[in-house]
Amino acid sequence: MRRLTDIDIKYLKGVGPKRADTLGKELDIHTYYDLLHYFPSRYDDRSKVVKIKDVASDNSAIQVRGRFIVINTVGEGARRRVQGLFSDGTGTLDVVWFNRLKYVQDTYRVGVDYLLFGKMSIFNGRISLVHPEIDPGDTIVDNQGLQAQYSIPEKLKTRGFTQRSLRQLISTLLASMPAVEETLPPELLRHYGLMPLREALECVHFPKTREQADRARARFKFEELFLIQLNILSYSRNRKANIAGYTFPRIGTFFNRFYSDVLPFSLTEAQKKVMREIRADLGSGRQMNRLLQGDVGSGKTIVALMTSLIAVDNGYQACIMAPTEILACQHYESLSAMAGKIGVRVELLTGSTTKKKRDELHASLLDGTIHILVGTHAVIEDCVEFRRLGLVVIDEQHRFGVAQRAKLWNKSTSAPHVLVMTATPIPRTLAMTVYGDLDVSVIDALPPGRKPIMTMLQYENRRREVNSLILGQLKAGRQVYIVYPLIQENEKLELKDLLQGLDATRLAFPGYEVGMVHGKMRPAEKDEQMQMFVSGKTRILVATTVIEVGVNVPNASVMVIENAERFGLSQLHQLRGRVGRGADQSYCILMTKPNIAADTRKRLEIMVETTDGFVIADADMKLRGPGDIEGTMQSGIAFNLRIANLASDSDVLAVARQAATMILDSDPLLERHYSLREQLRIHFNKTAGWSRIS
Ligand code: ADP
Ligand code: MG
Repeated sequence: MRRLTDIDIKYLKGVGPKRADTLGKELDIHTYYDLLHYFPSRYDDRSKVVKIKDVASDNSAIQVRGRFIVINTVGEGARRRVQGLFSDGTGTLDVVWFNRLKYVQDTYRVGVDYLLFGKMSIFNGRISLVHPEIDPGDTIVDNQGLQAQYSIPEKLKTRGFTQRSLRQLISTLLASMPAVEETLPPELLRHYGLMPLREALECVHFPKTREQADRARARFKFEELFLIQLNILSYSRNRKANIAGYTFPRIGTFFNRFYSDVLPFSLTEAQKKVMREIRADLGSGRQMNRLLQGDVGSGKTIVALMTSLIAVDNGYQACIMAPTEILACQHYESLSAMAGKIGVRVELLTGSTTKKKRDELHASLLDGTIHILVGTHAVIEDCVEFRRLGLVVIDEQHRFGVAQRAKLWNKSTSAPHVLVMTATPIPRTLAMTVYGDLDVSVIDALPPGRKPIMTMLQYENRRREVNSLILGQLKAGRQVYIVYPLIQENEKLELKDLLQGLDATRLAFPGYEVGMVHGKMRPAEKDEQMQMFVSGKTRILVATTVIEVGVNVPNASVMVIENAERFGLSQLHQLRGRVGRGADQSYCILMTKPNIAADTRKRLEIMVETTDGFVIADADMKLRGPGDIEGTMQSGIAFNLRIANLASDSDVLAVARQAATMILDSDPLLERHYSLREQLRIHFNKTAGWSRIS
């Protein structure tokens, strides 16, 4: 039996090479499989024909049957259109076309029966249908049940490729297809009561009832998420089975001396729990692959250091990577200060390290005299070699997916342990997909003595009150961030906003030093500005989002976010996390223009109501959809789900993961599930290669 994924769409009756080309380019439909898995975005209820006199002005889709009384071309230039007066004997309505006027004039006739379907609007007090779907009278079926509607780009529509064309192609294919092999194992179909493939294909495209459509969609959602989970879980199981991890059995003098002599506070229970989990991994003989989630300020850095010290105690080196130069420097400074006290050598390697210093570092890494290397993730791209790299810590790396992590393996003969730390609380569903191969630890409590940050939503016209709050904090010796959004499309405008902000700030707070950082600065300049703020020389820092990640200035107590409506929730949460790091009350002020839309205000109010990063991350994903969540695009997984939605289908995802676990438990190498093995090969090997081991 030939696989649907192997048959080129051009062989389908009614397609041909030219149309095949268009389908490929515009809809990513290349094969029979792709066409059948181009799922409807919604269904129209075409089971009822209404009388025009009964139509209420409720702006929904209607279906009417009748005849055109007149059809005319009217208007000039851009306003040129075809207008038809349509009657069903009980009343009349207007039908309007703006595109393909000649086709319309040539096709539709006065006095002939038609069935019209479309979304109605009221224009000049009259019912109007713009570009309705039109079926000629002799073919009319009054009850067409539910009708699938697909997303079709404007470009295709103007070329005459309509909903009907697509439905026609799918129906031709379904009718001419002799048999399709079921892709899910029978035990899963049975266990979860899923609709079989053939039936589901019919029902998802041509459902008779809403229930049929729902059941068909449920099957495909399940299948889609199941395959992803099967892939990621078999990947991580394989890795566990095949890649030896270093065993770090010892808790030695470095760790113990650090714990008793250097650690400036006692660990929180949450930190202790995480350390226990990490120690269990490191002692297991398996490679650790652990995701450490902890809200901003929860104290992940110390966990990274103590984990590194265990590596050092066992004769290995550790590497700690940060996403930005500033962060790498800050880590380097705080870590070397602490580690230096117990004779552990920490060094820094970034893009701006000089050639001479770099050569020196390379040598000391090779001879093992450097214990811990801190750097930007340039260190894994670079030709850096270690003597015995045993641990890699990736900090704040929500941009680091499976594929990127796999690169680390090349750095040592056996795979180093990997600890990924993130402060962007990743929604559970996303974590299971992007980081599904990792074990997860959570630091779910902040160090004691922190006051929750007070968050306020303020309109532009309350600027004076806001400034007086800021002034009060400055007088009390505190520091202030003022952040402007990045305007990617227009760098000039961005800089202008920022410079104006700088001027306004200087005017409003005379006598207080104001610094500025933005993404376009040279690294040295940026560092200098950051350092001045860290040291307290500048009291106010005007910045773009370059300060977003990880910067630690405990004396800062106010975070003002200008044009807050332009930021995503997760980003706002990150920014807010820059304050509230000391014991005193801190403030986060979200400034917006007065007339923001209701849903925007609702979004921002979530920030006011909660400081729980997980709640915020979930809300963010529900509001924006998973594709827009920071990091997913760069995560190494192409996130083009065909039907499932990570925001709304978390239940299905949980079930799919359970099913994948069940299958792998009973058949780890999928030896008895040939079809599943084939599908993993077909669907995943051609993407980033992330299903492959090492
Ligand atoms: P993050 O998780 O955002 O990386 P950090 O590791 O930077 O947080 O920690 C934030 C601040 O909290 C630091 O100043 C750190 O020294 C402090 N800190 C960490 N753990 C504790 C603790 N158990 N008790 C008190 N302060 C702590
Ligand atoms: Mg941190």
